[in-house]
Amino acid sequence: MVDKLKKIWMDGELVGWDDAKVHILTHSLHYGLGAFEGIRAYQRADGGTYVFRLREHNERLFDTCRLLAIKPKFTQEEVNQACLDLLRANEMKEGYLRPLVYMGDGPMGVYAHDNPVRTSVVAWHWGAYLGVGATETGIRAKISAFARHHINVGMPKAKMMGQYTNSSLAKREARIAGYNEAILLDTHGYVSEGSGENIFIVRRGRLITPPLSASILEGITRDTILKLARELGIPVAEEMITRDQLYLADEAFFTGTAAEVTPIREVDDRPIGTGTLGPITKQLQARFFGIVKGADDSHPEWLTAVY
Ligand code: PMP
Repeated sequence: MVDKLKKIWMDGELVGWDDAKVHILTHSLHYGLGAFEGIRAYQRADGGTYVFRLREHNERLFDTCRLLAIKPKFTQEEVNQACLDLLRANEMKEGYLRPLVYMGDGPMGVYAHDNPVRTSVVAWHWGAYLGVGATETGIRAKISAFARHHINVGMPKAKMMGQYTNSSLAKREARIAGYNEAILLDTHGYVSEGSGENIFIVRRGRLITPPLSASILEGITRDTILKLARELGIPVAEEMITRDQLYLADEAFFTGTAAEVTPIREVDDRPIGTGTLGPITKQLQARFFGIVKGADDSHPEWLTAVY
C-alpha cells in the first residue's frame, strides 16, 4: 500500500496528491506506449538526503523516449529538478521516485500521432522490495515459463511501460507458486534477468552477468556493482549464462533500484552455494549500502544532494 503524500509533479506543476488524475482515454493506459524510471533517495550517515544516480536514471528515461520516438515537453534537467522539488515538497528524507513520460488523451488507435506527451513524477516511501530481511537472508527464485522479450519483439534497453506485462506475468506466476521472484530466460534459453532486476552469479571467484547485448535492461545498479567489483579486484565477466551455470553458481544475486542488492538463496528449489549470503555478495552489498546510505564517500559523482 502506498501511503499518501502531499504533492505529485505533473507537467511542471506540484499538484495535491488527490488531484493528480488523468482521463480514462489516456493513450498509454490503453496501449502501454510510454517511458518510466525508478530512482531512490537515501538518508546517509551524515544526515543529508541524496538521490542515487539521478542523472543516469533520467538519461535512461530520455533514451527510452528516443527509442519510442516520443519527445517529452520537458528537458532532462527539468525532470532532474522536478525530482528534487518533489522530495522537498513532500519533506521526504528518503523514498522512491517514479518519473513517467506518457501519451495523454487525444486520438485513439495505436499510432498515437497527435496525443500530448505528458510528464509526471510521483514519490512514495518504499522499503525492501523483495521482502523484509531479503537483503540479508536471500530470496527464492523460480525460472519463469515466460521468456524475456526477443530483441526484435520489444526493446530491452527501453524502460517502456507496455513491456512490463511480460514482467508482471512472470512475477505473478512465481509469487502464486510460492517463490519471491522470477528469473526469465531469453528466447534462446540463456538467463536474462529478473522481472525487475539484473542478475549476477559467482562461480569459482568470478563475478558473471549477462552482457548488454543480451535481452536485459541496462541497469544502473548493475553498472554500479560492476564498477565496485572492479575496484575491489574481483574478476568480472559479462557473458551469457546458462540455466545449469546458474544452478551450479556458488553465489547469485539480483540488482535493481527497488531490489538493491538481494542474494538469491535458491533457484527452482535448488540451494545456490551454501544457501546463505556468500562472501562476494556480502562484500559488494557492503560497498553498495556504504555508498547509498552509509559513510563511504568514494563516489560523490553518484549522489545528488536534496538537503
Ligand atoms: N531489469 C528490469 C527489467 C528492471 O525493471 C529493472 C529496474 N529498473 C532493472 C533490471 C534494474 O535496473 P536499475 O538497477 O537501473 O534499477
